[in-house]
This record gives sequence, structure tokens and C-alpha cells, in this order.
Amino acid sequence: MIPAAKPIIGDDERAAVDRVLRSGMLAQGPEVAAFEAEFSAHVGGRHCVAMNSGTSALHLGFIAAGIERGDEVIVPSFSFAATANSVVLAGGVPVFADIDPQTFNIDPDHAESLINKKTKAIMPVHLYGHIAAMDRFAEISSKHGVQIIEDAAQGHLASLNGRNAGEFGTVASFSFYPTKNMTAGEGGMVVTEDAEIARTLRLLRNQGQEIRYQNEIIGFNTRMTDIHAAIGRVQLGKLPGWTKTRQENAVHLDANLKGVVTPFLAPGTTHSYHQYTIRIPGGSAEKRDAFMAGITERGVGCGVYYPTPIHRLPSFKMDLTLPQTDLVVKECVSLPVHPSLSKADLDTIVSVVNEVAASL
Ligand SMILES: *Cc1c(COP(=O)(O)O)cnc(C)c1O
Repeated sequence: MIPAAKPIIGDDERAAVDRVLRSGMLAQGPEVAAFEAEFSAHVGGRHCVAMNSGTSALHLGFIAAGIERGDEVIVPSFSFAATANSVVLAGGVPVFADIDPQTFNIDPDHAESLINKKTKAIMPVHLYGHIAAMDRFAEISSKHGVQIIEDAAQGHLASLNGRNAGEFGTVASFSFYPTKNMTAGEGGMVVTEDAEIARTLRLLRNQGQEIRYQNEIIGFNTRMTDIHAAIGRVQLGKLPGWTKTRQENAVHLDANLKGVVTPFLAPGTTHSYHQYTIRIPGGSAEKRDAFMAGITERGVGCGVYYPTPIHRLPSFKMDLTLPQTDLVVKECVSLPVHPSLSKADLDTIVSVVNEVAASL
């Protein structure tokens, strides 16, 4: 079976963890500081503040950016639930926008149409590693005075016109969950250009204190441990090479898959292929599910991210119609694209997908 995703953990990660364990200092310390400095080099030198998860990074990112009770934040519904959960956890109100079915990302025109006097921010998600239309969101931001906040949980090294995900928003949050393009076991990173926001984030993650027992504000404990940071540093070093391999795998799949809609690449973007997501045309979840059963039977793993739009989950249950979101959830399926695939695996994926797609 070719798995849909596969974290790569090697001797370097084991040695890094062992180094921290031997030091006897496990909580946030020099490894976290080094991880933040090294991550900063991939986001235009912006301030980086590590957290214990991507969800904490989003949550505290909203608080530090000044989102307050009742503030509306426009988000895509076609994403992981944490995108909208974090708005609610910060006291805000998520307002769901539809997507561009080509990029799978939040539709800037629809997002703009939802702006009203309560709107404080728009949060594009760089879904699957395709960067959102950040040039359009910069225009919308200056025209309407709303902040842009990035959910970059899937966006490591995705870029637009030479700028990486994380270099656009007031704040941007990354995740290091094991299935992401790099992992720290669990973890997240908030990125910001604003030194004041960065300081607030450091206070918020550590009980509101910079100097021990001199708590300045009410805070959380969302610190990353040095054990996790040590894993993250090793993985960050490998991320550019892994991303290149994902892109090469995607080029091969793009050139050879037939009967399915392969991922779109907007002008000026580089895709980091967190997922290689195709569409089975026809607007039928039954047809897509039959395709999935067919390729799984023949040894190719796959997954649907995400089968239910956030606004339709039991936790939100909103009576709202988002036509493109409702269509794409029925057609999308992600194929393996991870850097552990061999040439033989890629050939298997191509022949199995083409055979099953032709039989539908
Ligand atoms: C993974 C993910 C998150 C949450 O990150 P965690 O590290 O799992 O908390 C948030 N948003 C999106 C789009 C994600 O894919």
C-alpha cells in the first residue's frame, strides 16, 4: 500500500531529541530560540514565536492582532476546523466565504463582498500548499482597512512572486503536526513583522510574563518544548529538499494523469504540495468515493480533505449555501505526493488512477 502521507523521522531527529534529553533541560529554552531564528530565514526575517500547536498559533495570533469579542473574521469554510475554531476561541465571529474552485482557496471577490463595519480581518488559508491570492488581499486590506491574517498551517515555503507564505499578513501561523510538510511532533509558529505583536505573543504564550513572576498580562501556557524544537530544527533543514521532491512528484503526476482534474497553479506561485488534490468531475460524491475505493483496492492510498465544509459541521451548523465549496467537497481527493515516493510508486499511482478514472 502506498500511504497517502508519511512523516519522515530519521537518525538526525533521534540524535537531536537525545541531545536535549541529555541536557536535562526540556522546557522552552535555547532550542526553541534557535528554531525561531532559523524559521525566520524562510519568512523574510520576520519575528517568529513558537507555540505548542498550530491551533495555539492561530488563537494567540488573533489575540495579539487585536481581535476582540464580536469582531468578524472572514474565513474559508473549505478548510480544517481549526481555521474557524481559533476565531471563536479568540472571541471573534467567523464569517464563511466561498472558494475559487481552481485554487481551492478563499475567493477574494466573495470575501470582499462580506466586509461590513464589524469586519476586523480576513484569514486566507494556503490550502494544500497553494498560496492564496495575497496580492488581491493586500488591495482589499488597504481599501477597506481590514487586517489580513494567514492560516499558513499548510503553507510552508509556498510562494507568490518570490515571497513566501508568512510574509504577507499582520500575523501568519504555521503548524508542525506530523502530516504537515515538516513536523516537530506537535507545534506551531506565529510570524509577524511587528515587534510589538511579537512581544505580546511571547507574553501570551508564557502566562503573561517576560521576567519570571512579573506577569504583565493574563496569558496561557502554549510554550513549545526544547524536545519538539530540536525535532523541528532538523526537519526545517530538510524542508527545502523535501519541497523540491514534492514539486517534482507533482510535475510527474500532472504530466501523466488522465480523466481527472489535476491541481491548478496560479501565475507567479510556487506550490509546496502539502496535498496533491485532484477533482473527479461530475459533482458526485458517490462517483468520487467509487474512485477512492477503486484506487485503494489497487494499493494507492488517498484521502478527502475535507469531506464537510466547516459551516456544516455539528460544531457550527450554519444555514448557509456556498456553491463552490459544496461542489468541491464532493469532487476532491488527495493522492500521495510525499517525498518518500519512489519512481515505481509514482508509476503505480499513474497507472492505477488512469485505469480507475477510465472505468467510472
Ligand atoms: C493542521 C492545520 C491547523 C491546525 O494545526 P495543529 O498544529 O494541528 O493545531 C490549522 N489550520 C489548517 C489549515 C491546518 O491544516
